[in-house]
Amino acid sequence: MAGGRASALPIIVAGGGIGGLAAALGLALKGLDVLVLEKAPQLGEIGAGIQLGPNAFHAFDYLGVGEAARGMAVYIDQLRLMDALTAEEIMHIDLGEAFRARFGNPYAVVHRGDLHKVFLAACREHSRIELRVSSDAMAYDQDGSSVTVRLASGENARGAALIGADGLWSNVRKQVIGDGPPRVSGHTTYRSVIPTERMAQDLRWNAATLWAGPKCHLVHYPLSGWKVFNLVITCHNDAPEPVAGKPVAKEEVMQGFAHVHEQARKIIDLGMDWKLWVLCDRAPVENWVDGRVALLGDAAHPMLQYMAQGACMAMEDAVCLSHMIAAYPDRIEGALDAYRSRRVLRTTRVQLQSRAIGDHVYHPSGAHAQLRNAIMRAKTQEEWYEMLQWLYGGNGLDEKNFG
Ligand SMILES: Cc1cc2nc3c(=O)[nH]c(=O)nc-3n(C[C@H](O)[C@H](O)[C@H](O)COP(=O)(O)OP(=O)(O)OC[C@H]3O[C@@H](n4cnc5c(N)ncnc54)[C@H](O)[C@@H]3O)c2cc1C
Repeated sequence: MAGGRASALPIIVAGGGIGGLAAALGLALKGLDVLVLEKAPQLGEIGAGIQLGPNAFHAFDYLGVGEAARGMAVYIDQLRLMDALTAEEIMHIDLGEAFRARFGNPYAVVHRGDLHKVFLAACREHSRIELRVSSDAMAYDQDGSSVTVRLASGENARGAALIGADGLWSNVRKQVIGDGPPRVSGHTTYRSVIPTERMAQDLRWNAATLWAGPKCHLVHYPLSGWKVFNLVITCHNDAPEPVAGKPVAKEEVMQGFAHVHEQARKIIDLGMDWKLWVLCDRAPVENWVDGRVALLGDAAHPMLQYMAQGACMAMEDAVCLSHMIAAYPDRIEGALDAYRSRRVLRTTRVQLQSRAIGDHVYHPSGAHAQLRNAIMRAKTQEEWYEMLQWLYGGNGLDEKNFG
């Protein structure tokens, strides 16, 4: 918008997670004032690692944090798939020079707290962004020219538009779409970190490694300058209720993995301070916009983590949103709808494919697993790159990659 202002009122962003802060930054860089309302008393992220495809780096560059983000990442050499019953490698994807040349950026892993800090520091430095904590956005009202957000404290905040970046349990979504609670997947995820010196020498791979077994899988990769290995393991045990971050004993964790190879069980045995999540997602929808209100990130398209793309999609959303608002400075409603229509197919594809690879790659057994191994083993590196082109070649703006 070359410094133009859509309105004297700020754009309000509900939620100060990775998606909300990325959106605030993108909008401020286009010359808009932004007010971020975060429910928690402090801005921060829990949990450990997160994987970033090359599409995340395209977003970092657009949002002006490319250098800071590159500085705290661990650059892994491979995505490696192991058979959790036999401890044999099924296939890997090389992430070296050919991959970087193909997609214009690397694949990396980072501590999600470090990534959040990169966005937070950039937002704090930007004079157009105001960050308010302990601000629980409950509901909104709008007229033709503004949106008023009602907070749990009884206060109101008025803006030119409202971006609901308030995550899986979004209050803004309740009002925009009203489609009830998220779907409980029945998949239980346990997270831990292992100090690198405790990890078996022969498993200290510079790879994001997935061990796929019947109704269960393990993922590990080095993190935080190789100080630790991030360990995330999942068991499809038909858990009925959503859970987030509940501490759990190792004995309980091990129960879902009694049938996997000893080498995989030994990795789990090294984990400490386990925490449990029961994963939720939603079926894709297309109506993320209500006049001057739009959803972004997990509030719009929550997905299972199996493509490692939820945060990447939230950052792409931020790119697209800020681009569209800048492109249509005097037509906020039109800009939000242009953002929505540019993002829906791409995020739908990632949501659906995340479910599908859970069923067909991460958790199959018997003949289904043997078929997986045969199909995946047969592909060349070039064929893998070709399959991933639509995803890693996208940047949130580019139509041909549904985004
Ligand atoms: C086990 C696991 C592994 C994952 N691995 C990856 C990965 O490798 N790569 C990847 O890209 N993604 C991954 N993801 C997905 C990723 O974590 C999410 O998609 C991403 O964090 C979504 O960001 P968000 O900002 O949209 O939502 P959130 O991170 O949920 O942030 C929402 C924010 O809104 C705040 N909030 C909530 N309600 C309100 C309210 N009423 N008012 C104001 N503020 C509110 C919250 O406190 C929070 O700060 C993984 C997810 C899981 C569960």
